[in-house]
Amino acid sequence: MEIDVTQGLQTTAECPLPGLETRVLPGDAAGVQAAAELLQAGQLVGIPTETVYGLAANAKDAAAVAQIFLAKGRPQDNPLIVHIARLSQLTEIAVNIPQQAYALAEAFWPGPLTVVLPRGEAIPASVSAGLDTVAVRMPSHPVAQAILRQSGLPLAAPSGNLSGKPSPTSAHYMLEDMQGRIPLIVDGGECGVGVESTVVSLCTPQPTVLRPGAVTAEQMARVLGYPVLLSHAITEGLKEGETAASPGMKYKHYAPKAQVTLVVGDARQYAAYVNSRAQQDGSGLMALCFAEDAPLLQLPYIEYGGTDQPEQQAQHVFTALRQLDEKGAQTVLAHCPQTTGVALAVYNRMLRAAAFRVIQLS
Ligand code: AMP
Ligand code: MG
Repeated sequence: MEIDVTQGLQTTAECPLPGLETRVLPGDAAGVQAAAELLQAGQLVGIPTETVYGLAANAKDAAAVAQIFLAKGRPQDNPLIVHIARLSQLTEIAVNIPQQAYALAEAFWPGPLTVVLPRGEAIPASVSAGLDTVAVRMPSHPVAQAILRQSGLPLAAPSGNLSGKPSPTSAHYMLEDMQGRIPLIVDGGECGVGVESTVVSLCTPQPTVLRPGAVTAEQMARVLGYPVLLSHAITEGLKEGETAASPGMKYKHYAPKAQVTLVVGDARQYAAYVNSRAQQDGSGLMALCFAEDAPLLQLPYIEYGGTDQPEQQAQHVFTALRQLDEKGAQTVLAHCPQTTGVALAVYNRMLRAAAFRVIQLS
């Protein structure tokens, strides 16, 4: 499923901007103050969150929001998430808020859960890529919280990568993508969760997860007292001509330069397969494996966590994808994660990084 990520791209203004140096400041009082001032002036700032780094702008300022799409090269029909600091801001962003939203907020905010609600008038349509819904989240990262509070603004922010690339989990990787495109990145260290938030829609007949993350459908079901559905597009991708419930679902995503293939099997099967591939033609071939696989491998590899440690895998998956490029990998055979619980979030990202190429050994 190769899709042109430049589709709908804005090309009228210049980006990167001539002569613009991107500053990186620590997430202390001065960094937070500088970020808040730029955001109030309608500029873009890279901010750390507990999931991944975000590319933030004033969510109420349509001109500032337009700059986000430009800086990322993001297709205009892929909506953004609005970040808030306090629950009382929710009514500025959304309308007709159902009781379930408050139940989920109480259980999971601040934290890695985004809720899709009917959009309020104060939020420009461009934030939601023209949809009449809006995605809202309250991040828990102390620096994100401080910037939200200091600026006094709701902040629209997608992940801080160039469109199509792996999301950045450190200021270093965000700078790699955004150098010369934005004035400031605030460094809040490495992200603890490592994959983007769970997105759950409350605008569907039953609550539906559109993108899996660290908050699972099972956890939300326990809070709500009834099942939360999983969109089939999480594991299948979209069929030809199908409209995306969450427009981000339809684009090529998270991909390193190398061609990635997922390999499904136990540690012995995986090792036997990748070792035999390395013997046939090892040039540019690398493994993306679990810690337990590493001793069995006879080719260069990057580890992304323990076999049964989905939180660890989530924390490392995007860094691992970028490291494969740094090491010059051309072909990557990745040991496929599980497809339940938090591992579903890792599987969802890896499947897209692999453009849905999967080899079944068991
Ligand atoms: P990013 O932070 O770059 O991963 O982008 C935010 C993602 O949130 C989008 O790709 C969508 O999948 C999802 N999203 C944002 N707004 C909405 C919405 N109104 N309806 C459905 N999904 C949304
Ligand atoms: Mg993204």
